[in-house]
Amino acid sequence: MLNKIPYINLIKQSREEKKEIFKALNKLFLKSEFVSGDEVEIFEKNIRNFLKIKYCVALNSGTDALTLGLHLLGVRKGDEVITPPNSFVASTASIVHLGAIPVFCDVYRDQNIDPKQIIKKITKKTKAIMPVHLSGRACEMDEIMNISKKYKIPIIEDAAQAIGTKYKNKFVGSFGKIGCFSAHPLKNLNAIGDGGYLVTDDKTIANKVKSLRNHGIVDRNKISTFGHVSRMDNIQAAVLNLRIKKLKNVIKKRRINANLYIENLKNLKNIILPYEKITEFNTYHTFVILAEGRDRLKSYLQKKGINTAIHYPHLIFDQKAYKRKFKSPKKNEFKVAREISKKILTLPINQYLSIREIKKISNEIKNFYQND
Ligand SMILES: *Cc1c(COP(=O)(O)O)cnc(C)c1O
Repeated sequence: MLNKIPYINLIKQSREEKKEIFKALNKLFLKSEFVSGDEVEIFEKNIRNFLKIKYCVALNSGTDALTLGLHLLGVRKGDEVITPPNSFVASTASIVHLGAIPVFCDVYRDQNIDPKQIIKKITKKTKAIMPVHLSGRACEMDEIMNISKKYKIPIIEDAAQAIGTKYKNKFVGSFGKIGCFSAHPLKNLNAIGDGGYLVTDDKTIANKVKSLRNHGIVDRNKISTFGHVSRMDNIQAAVLNLRIKKLKNVIKKRRINANLYIENLKNLKNIILPYEKITEFNTYHTFVILAEGRDRLKSYLQKKGINTAIHYPHLIFDQKAYKRKFKSPKKNEFKVAREISKKILTLPINQYLSIREIKKISNEIKNFYQND
């Protein structure tokens, strides 16, 4: 009998990295640079080099990257921002916090925004388009960038789940005017607390975010605009600087795991597996299948000791937070998003899984459908 298979395995990561991380933290603690500091600047440089982008501003979260980013694209009260309804709530929350209106757009069956639907949602009030590279899979960036150019509407990419993901050999997050990333403990490049970063090729935007994250301070005693407290801790940056060295391997391992699942499950008619188009290089922050009888499969796997998840069980317009502010869409809208939300199931994909564990999970999925 194998032990239980957890969906994530942060404890294993912590144990494995304890020595080097404690060593780095010990040094920093004695140096006592807690808020801003060298490690933050090194982290920004590391990300610039990794993503091949001009500017990176380290922040306290992916959510603040989105909120500050939208603000700097000029999104204000009453403006509209187009985004998918099946993301993590933070994508939409960042729009709402600025007093703007989230305008949802349907998605493909791979969960990512459908560019043809974007066009239908554009109005005079559209100030930005926010595609989300959900599950670490790339959106159709050529079509999205063409829409951006044609209608002169800037793109802000929610790449919170997609560090290292590429579309036609270019990193996601570097296509739009602004790219936003999260370093939350559950993300592929993860801190030991909250963290995030914004990237851009635009110097003015980068400088403004730098000021806004730090009370709006320009230099010591000059405040040009009231800002926020959205800085990344030096301590989180130190951890990220150690972990970014391993990021390529983390991605490699996740891609191997994805291929193992695909190899084991490709002949099963009852599920649809994530499919990597020739234009994509996906990093599998999550491995999401579309499964017939999803809820029954989920509890079956749970009984067999296999933990799975659903990202996300409710579309954002079905949440109370949305309904108390905005009108619910008609039942015949968002056909794909509604259909797949009943089928999506996230299988464990983390870099600590063994080949045996993936085989066991695959076999149990096959058993479920054979006996169903
Ligand atoms: C995690 C996540 C965010 C928010 O990131 P935080 O760092 O937790 O604020 C935003 N969008 C998506 C798609 C995410 O997965």
